[in-house]
Amino acid sequence: MFWRRTRPESGSAGGQPETAVAPAAADPVPADVPAAADGAAPGSGAGPAQIADGVQASRRGFMARLHSILRGGPVDDEAWEAVEETLIAGDVGARLAMEVVARARDRRDPGGPEAAVRAELARLLPASTAGPWRPARPDRTLPAVVLVVGVNGTGKTTSIAKIAARLAGEGDRVLLAAADTFRAAAIEQLEAWASRLALPIVAHRAGADPSAVVFDALDAAVARDADVVIVDTAGRLHTRHNLMEELAKIRRTIDKRLPGVTPEVLFVLDATTGQNGLAQAKAFHEAIGLTGIVLTKLDSTAKGGIVFAIEQALGVPVVFAGVGERVADLVDFDTDAFVEALFA
Ligand code: GDP
Repeated sequence: MFWRRTRPESGSAGGQPETAVAPAAADPVPADVPAAADGAAPGSGAGPAQIADGVQASRRGFMARLHSILRGGPVDDEAWEAVEETLIAGDVGARLAMEVVARARDRRDPGGPEAAVRAELARLLPASTAGPWRPARPDRTLPAVVLVVGVNGTGKTTSIAKIAARLAGEGDRVLLAAADTFRAAAIEQLEAWASRLALPIVAHRAGADPSAVVFDALDAAVARDADVVIVDTAGRLHTRHNLMEELAKIRRTIDKRLPGVTPEVLFVLDATTGQNGLAQAKAFHEAIGLTGIVLTKLDSTAKGGIVFAIEQALGVPVVFAGVGERVADLVDFDTDAFVEALFA
């Protein structure tokens, strides 16, 4: 069902042809994206139960220690110090851990010290949202655009596949754009996902201008009346400056091709990278402005306290959590359900 279009290289002399890959115009994006390639139905099973599974490692990790300190009898100065250390070990961050403990102590919560800590942690998160995340689309005649940014290895491509499968499963016509042209493998990986999920993709050869890919993808999206374009972006260039410049250029391309469409900018944060990942998120936020966080590998960390640190540091909501490698392992992030699951 795919056709290949070979086009002359734009702008530079004598280069190899660029290639755009997309399904024929008549091919609809199937609403029932294959029970996905790995046998899991996208969009199914998401919810509190999946969050509970996803935070199991954290519950057995730093939270188990927290319970044992707070439930073990009177909480004296030494025990409060241990609470602080445990929160730091759980990636909450040193300053925040100190504040949480100070406020929890001051509360004199009738529910006891554990209820106090829980309430103070919960306060750090934004209120639960009304429903699952959807890309903003003020003008229904134009597609929504989602830029997915972050460092290589964090789970960016897998998250794109998960989000694409989710939206397609909900009936959206989704188109992928392989704008991480820095690595040939990134293009191939996204093409493989597009093929598994039966989604159209626009890709050029490695080394091509990412903005040109985005421009073509937006053209294709308008031509085929797509609802959402999800753009993969480079996770590493020679310098951070180059990377941020490239992202800024992609944004200008969107402005130019689809004036009035403000892209969602989702940052993929690997929960296992702790405070390091947080520093990366801050850099991206300062450079291009993030609208949401996709927290990957929540299932693989015993330090889920990173969620509190992110919310405090950035004020950008965690919209999804990745809780495994399968397409269905994507959870709508609900703050109440998360706190509930941690303390369960
Ligand atoms: P990218 O380089 O950022 O595009 O990263 P990939 O999408 O290729 O993912 C890197 C590795 O992390 C792969 O082995 C994925 O299967 C794995 N991965 C991605 N998301 C998750 C997740 O939520 N949980 C777990 N356990 N593994 C994940």
